[in-house]
Amino acid sequence: MKACVLHAIGDLRTEEVTVPVPGPGWVLVKVAACGVCGSDIPRVFEKGTYRFPLIPGHEFAGVVDAVGEGVDAARIGQRAAVFPLVPCMRCAMCAVGAYAQCADYDYLGSRCDGAFAEYVVAPEWNLVPVPDGLSLEEAAMCEPAAVAAHALRQAKIDLGATVAIFGAGPIGLMLAQWARAWGAARVMLLDVDREKLQFARSLGYEFTSNPKEEDAVAWVRGHAPLGADVVVEGSGSAAAFEQTVQCAKPFGAVVLMGNPAGAMTLSQKAYWAILRNELRLHGTWNSSFAELRGNEWQMSLDAMAAGRIDVKPLISHRTGPEGLLDHMVMMRDRKGFFNKVMMVN
Ligand SMILES: [Zn+2]
Ligand SMILES: [Zn+2]
Repeated sequence: MKACVLHAIGDLRTEEVTVPVPGPGWVLVKVAACGVCGSDIPRVFEKGTYRFPLIPGHEFAGVVDAVGEGVDAARIGQRAAVFPLVPCMRCAMCAVGAYAQCADYDYLGSRCDGAFAEYVVAPEWNLVPVPDGLSLEEAAMCEPAAVAAHALRQAKIDLGATVAIFGAGPIGLMLAQWARAWGAARVMLLDVDREKLQFARSLGYEFTSNPKEEDAVAWVRGHAPLGADVVVEGSGSAAAFEQTVQCAKPFGAVVLMGNPAGAMTLSQKAYWAILRNELRLHGTWNSSFAELRGNEWQMSLDAMAAGRIDVKPLISHRTGPEGLLDHMVMMRDRKGFFNKVMMVN
């Protein structure tokens, strides 16, 4: 099969490799589509994967092609999105369904082979059937959609809330959709990239602002004088962290989601704002796959199938495996506008 294999940091090659064989309890998935995650860019160009060689790619959906021992053959032909985290099922966190906090997990696309390939193997447990009428490209967006849902659920958002989101990339835009679906009265999007804001407006999010061009805190407070009920930091920049804290309403929630670009320091003024306004600061990580905590993967596919969130317009680029590296370079160098870049087979 054709696969994009990372041999060393910065050395991604599209080459022929053997199709993997599913072990007991695992299935072989024929990959239809696999999105490029923002985290794949530093993974490929700066940090590397857990080991080499390895096939990256963790935002995918496909069709079950073969099953390993102990898996019902009726699975073959089923369309599925795949939760890429493989929990140990033995630790204290796994015991309560907090798989993202597992002490000893495996991960398709960073610790073991992922889906920038024609086929990938995954545990049967990780499959979420895709509802009829939903394309596999859309289903491949289940991972970021679930991450966005998880972030927003941390805030315990209320009906009529004002929500400010720092970062208007794919996850920011999915957060915006979730916020509306959850009954937010106003959704504000902030980003330092003009084209991302223009794109957000084309999707119907008219409240957008560029912190490089105007004071972000003053702008949010211009639309919500007491501050926003929920503020999401999705950019990973310390400047945005400072602003999120300063534009939150008293007793409001700040959700910290963006992977930090460096030290995330706060001014004394911002720190005072946390104390005086009794802000709730929530970290968010990955998504929930457990019924007990609400399966955000199922939630996401259901919301897509019902039209409550629409991820299709977020796909800005499609490429085959051969063009993946060029697209990743484009993303790394920010050579043009992109939203969700997707490898399709
Ligand atoms: Zn991702
Ligand atoms: Zn575990």
